[in-house]
Amino acid sequence: VNTQYKDTFTSTCCYCGVGCGVVVSKEKNGTVTVEGDKDYSVNKGMLCSKGMNLQYTVNDKRDRLLYPQMRYNKNMPMQRVGWEEALQRTAAVFSTFIKKYGPESVAFYASGQCLTEEYYVINKLIKGFIGSNNIDTNSRLCMSSAVAGYKMALGEDSVPICYDDIELADCFYVTGANPAWCHPILWRRVEAHKATNPDVKIIVVDPRVTDSCAIADLHLQLNPGTDVVLNHAIGRVLIENGDIDLDFVRNHAQGFEQYREVVFQRTLGKSAEICGVSEEDIRLAAKYIGNAKGFISMWTMGLNQSAIGVNKNLSLLNLNLITGHIGKPGSGPFSLTGQPNAMGGREVGGLSNLLAAHRNLNDPAHREEVQKFWGGTAISEKPGLTATEMFEALNDGRLKAIWILCSNPLTSLPNARMAEEGLKKARFVVVQEISNKPETLSYADVILPAAAWTEKEGTMTNSERRITYLNKITDAPGEALPDVEIICRFARKMGYKGFDYASASEIYQEHARLTAGTNIDISGLSYAVLKEKRSVQWPYPSGERAAGTPRLFSDKIFYTPSKKAIIHPVPVDFRSEQPDEDYPLILTTGRIRDQWHTMSKTGKVNKLKKHISQAFLEIHPADAAQLQLTEGEMALISSRRGEVRVKAKVSENIKQGVVFLPMHWGKILGSDLNRANNVTSELLDPVSKEPDFKYCAVRVERY
Ligand code: SF4
Repeated sequence: VNTQYKDTFTSTCCYCGVGCGVVVSKEKNGTVTVEGDKDYSVNKGMLCSKGMNLQYTVNDKRDRLLYPQMRYNKNMPMQRVGWEEALQRTAAVFSTFIKKYGPESVAFYASGQCLTEEYYVINKLIKGFIGSNNIDTNSRLCMSSAVAGYKMALGEDSVPICYDDIELADCFYVTGANPAWCHPILWRRVEAHKATNPDVKIIVVDPRVTDSCAIADLHLQLNPGTDVVLNHAIGRVLIENGDIDLDFVRNHAQGFEQYREVVFQRTLGKSAEICGVSEEDIRLAAKYIGNAKGFISMWTMGLNQSAIGVNKNLSLLNLNLITGHIGKPGSGPFSLTGQPNAMGGREVGGLSNLLAAHRNLNDPAHREEVQKFWGGTAISEKPGLTATEMFEALNDGRLKAIWILCSNPLTSLPNARMAEEGLKKARFVVVQEISNKPETLSYADVILPAAAWTEKEGTMTNSERRITYLNKITDAPGEALPDVEIICRFARKMGYKGFDYASASEIYQEHARLTAGTNIDISGLSYAVLKEKRSVQWPYPSGERAAGTPRLFSDKIFYTPSKKAIIHPVPVDFRSEQPDEDYPLILTTGRIRDQWHTMSKTGKVNKLKKHISQAFLEIHPADAAQLQLTEGEMALISSRRGEVRVKAKVSENIKQGVVFLPMHWGKILGSDLNRANNVTSELLDPVSKEPDFKYCAVRVERY
């Protein structure tokens, strides 16, 4: 661990995937101030409201967990213990379960906010030594549909674009995203580009009128769940108008003929009716895209968090592929990563169906290669449990022990009460956390206090494949330890070799070596290089001396076996829970501007509550009138899984028949009635296993 203190340090904002650079100044009393880094290419000194208030979350340590705690059985109170005792017992319990029930009886549930080194050691531990693939993270709830889409279309989980492409594009298709609130600094760049180039066209696709619509030339307020139909309809018009890149589809892609057949199966009129938008607007969107020299499609949770999330992704990628807008300046598909290091986690294989360095879990040669590198046990070919599956497996007894770190699943998982039941039934729960607030703590058998942002060093990768080094700036309070140290100490207690790292830098070096020769080769990287260059975009193979690789696929060679991109003839398939007489409205959930995830950090900052201070239900005036519900009145929202009780916000910004709940609130003073995930559906995309947060059937009543 780097203990070289200076007064001023660079770091990266720990919230969203934009990955803004910050300068953290440390005072003599140990408190910090945080400013945007003016010299950093991503944000050029700008920070959004969340980033601007980072210092308060760092300086306020009142909620911090300070020492390990444990109880010997579920009826006993938690007691303070030392690290030795906590980890010794945890290792003994894990060893017993593994011996008695097999390696799949234990699991780790982590987070897209973990640093790459943390992800790396957890993966190595469970996949390479325990012998199970039961490691999943809240990235499953976030980007897994985009990952699957990229792999199927481009042959690799690889964002082709860089942020500097924004200023080179002249058409943006922003779908299932509200970047004005959720990726604000990136959106500032789009706004500035549009302000200086008014001819730049911006199309926003969303069932709600959001702040991102403020600069849109066209808002397609589609019916929830109809994205594939809309994208196909636009694809059809592009083909009809001859606005496709014939050279690209003939020589660098495959599947165009099947795609053409699929998109011509439905008339434009029928598509418009299904989507709830006009035929003229579909034609206009296609015209804007067809006229563009640089076309960027941008998306996030509206496409990913869906029971047809992968198909939605593929249907969007198709628009870039048929127009040849990929691998060129100002062009490409651009998934907006939700969390700060979801991409770093994927690099080390941090999901239950992935293997280190983007290798394939289902490839025996890849498994053997990683096993030899780690020197542990044979890596199982069986994908592990995904996020929601872990909690189902706790419920039915398949899973005995779960270790939760850096995540608050009892607020963030769909059908949260099911997850809660799972934790009640778990034989053994370890919670590794910075804060004493998450609801998971009340189910823990062992609580391990972790170091927070600025209290540990490591790396993260943002939405444009940009890797940065985060300095250790302050000391962790009490006995809290960096997550890598906790995991490595535990691994050694389990008797596993290969976890004796002298520093986080050594872990990074090992990870970098393991990527050599892969599509994400960063074997030329080290902490020294990252400190010198401030940031680097992967790949960065050994011998690389520039700043990495800003744009992928410039050579039009893809990572598929044929080296061609694949245009998938995606079927139109509605899998979501449909409204009926009992539950006639469609619920969609999402974020608000000034809060981050389950608010364990941003919830500490009073200033951030000024924008929106409590959970609410957004409902169209016509629906509200029918229910005799007025602004500010309490509404009871029920689904087949549970209920929520919040104030109504009557607004024309939402489509009739659709209601919206923010996802941030969990239990408050023992009541879970603000928690949107009481009602959401645990229906999953069959490929990505990402939940259907953006669509379930609910009933709303005046309370
Ligand atoms: Fe942090 Fe994202 Fe805001 Fe940048 S845009 S300051 S990374 S939350």
